[in-house]
Amino acid sequence: MDYFKPESVSEALSLLAKYGNEAKIIAGGTDVMVDIKYKEEPGCLVNIKRIPGMSAIEESGGSLRIGPLVTIREIETSKLVRERLPLLWEACHQFASLQIRNTATIGGNICRASPSGETLAPLLVLGAKAKLAFSDGEKTEPFNSLFQGPGKTSLGSKGLLAAIEIPYPPKGSSGVYLKHAVRGPMDIAVVGIAVLVVPDSAAKTLQEARIGLGAVAPTPIRAIKAEAMLRGKPLDSKLVEQAAQMAAAESSPITDQRGSAEYRRWIVEALTRRGLEQTWKAATGKEVA
Ligand SMILES: Cc1cc2nc3c(=O)[nH]c(=O)nc-3n(C[C@H](O)[C@H](O)[C@H](O)COP(=O)(O)OP(=O)(O)OC[C@H]3O[C@@H](n4cnc5c(N)ncnc54)[C@H](O)[C@@H]3O)c2cc1C
Repeated sequence: MDYFKPESVSEALSLLAKYGNEAKIIAGGTDVMVDIKYKEEPGCLVNIKRIPGMSAIEESGGSLRIGPLVTIREIETSKLVRERLPLLWEACHQFASLQIRNTATIGGNICRASPSGETLAPLLVLGAKAKLAFSDGEKTEPFNSLFQGPGKTSLGSKGLLAAIEIPYPPKGSSGVYLKHAVRGPMDIAVVGIAVLVVPDSAAKTLQEARIGLGAVAPTPIRAIKAEAMLRGKPLDSKLVEQAAQMAAAESSPITDQRGSAEYRRWIVEALTRRGLEQTWKAATGKEVA
């Protein structure tokens, strides 16, 4: 197996072009090294950790730009993220063990494109965009079109994730990430739900509700029918129940060793209900009627 440590994005892209499907990018290596041990060895490893300019969390206007090499622990300990993007902070806080959080990068989590990837549903709900670098130029891809299936993104084998841009959520909004896993944060999510609500200025109706579902479809998805049903309405327990059932119906989970499809749908319903109740209370100071 060949091993390269490019010092620029263009050098990394040249290696990807040269080695094609044989090449594998490695960042923190928490997924790649497991694959090498238990699945297969790539023809060549391209370690991107030396590339400068991809390890910062920076504010730019009304958004936060996060480099793909920023670790989950750096996000978890960032005051800026905790204050401005508490939803993403919460997902990183519930991510594996401290040892894994210290090594795993956000770029690796995104590019792995696992349906259960902890940061994916929150980034989808936050309306994040990915800056993708290819040898013929850069492209900005919204998260709702980035994921194409388990392990597949629009990067293909020749692109590199160069940055993540996350707009700040609307003023007065509240978000929550709820993870259900058999062994708590140490385990991969059976279901992960991100909910963001934006009440109107009088705190009477829902101006907007965004619901992101993780681990219950081939890619992370938004429960768009449930979101549409909630928009513009006063939130009461009947509506919460209807939205939770609709979100469960929008999911298409599989049965595996962590849980059956039926169980996962039931968890989607329970967590959507809890997420809407919690965020409504946090945003308005009132319990759901
Ligand atoms: C014990 C254990 C527990 C775990 N628990 C969790 C958990 O609770 N939640 C969770 O979501 N995940 C978990 N994971 C999975 C893993 O830690 C995450 O997916 C992590 O974020 C991957 O980041 P990394 O930097 O280690 O990626 P790597 O392993 O280096 O790479 C992952 C993939 O992304 C590609 N890649 C990396 N960076 C880029 C880039 N900039 N551009 C293009 N492609 C890129 C690589 O080629 C590879 O396909 C766990 C893993 C282990 C071993």
